[in-house]
Amino acid sequence: MSICYIALGSNLEDPFAQANQAIMALQQLPQSKVIDVSPFYRSKPLGPQDQNDYLNAVIKINTTLSPIELLDQLQAIEQSQGRVRKDNRWGARTLDLDILLYDDLVIDSERLTIPHYHMQFREFVLYPLFDIAPTLVLPNNQKLSDLVANCERNGLIRWNK
Ligand code: ATP
Ligand code: CA
Ligand code: CA
Repeated sequence: MSICYIALGSNLEDPFAQANQAIMALQQLPQSKVIDVSPFYRSKPLGPQDQNDYLNAVIKINTTLSPIELLDQLQAIEQSQGRVRKDNRWGARTLDLDILLYDDLVIDSERLTIPHYHMQFREFVLYPLFDIAPTLVLPNNQKLSDLVANCERNGLIRWNK
């Protein structure tokens, strides 16, 4: 059984509904169990600024799916919630599910980079992750608490409906 942290983001078609639907879908994942869900946050978009703010959260699961099997499942959930893949990176989307961490695995393959390549610098990942895993240490031995302490909030706020 592996421990895995998944980042959720949404800024289209009612982000709260998208997030709740995605969490229900994660609860239905084969060979897996949702252990914890962070509070919801509101963040400014990366890249193109002519789009809505994002809703962000982090979900902890236990799973016996392999990393690639998990990625396939997450992408199927994105598709089922109307994710349209466009050429422009970081554009608006109904749902984004990224694998942040999978135990202490380090993976760098064509489809999968774990830990997620930019998580150390993203306030909308670090803060919700810290809420549910305050003592977490990354595979490179960095403490999550140190990363959070060094990460500007960039306008990140809790977002309660
Ligand atoms: P970013 O990766 O900067 O957060 P994004 O989430 O918008 O941007 P996507 O278009 O959703 O990027 O994903 C592009 C590809 O990233 C996916 O097809 C997937 O193969 C790859 N990928 C690599 N590592 C991961 C990971 N840890 N979790 C999810 N996808 C990943
Ligand atoms: Ca992403
Ligand atoms: Ca993604």
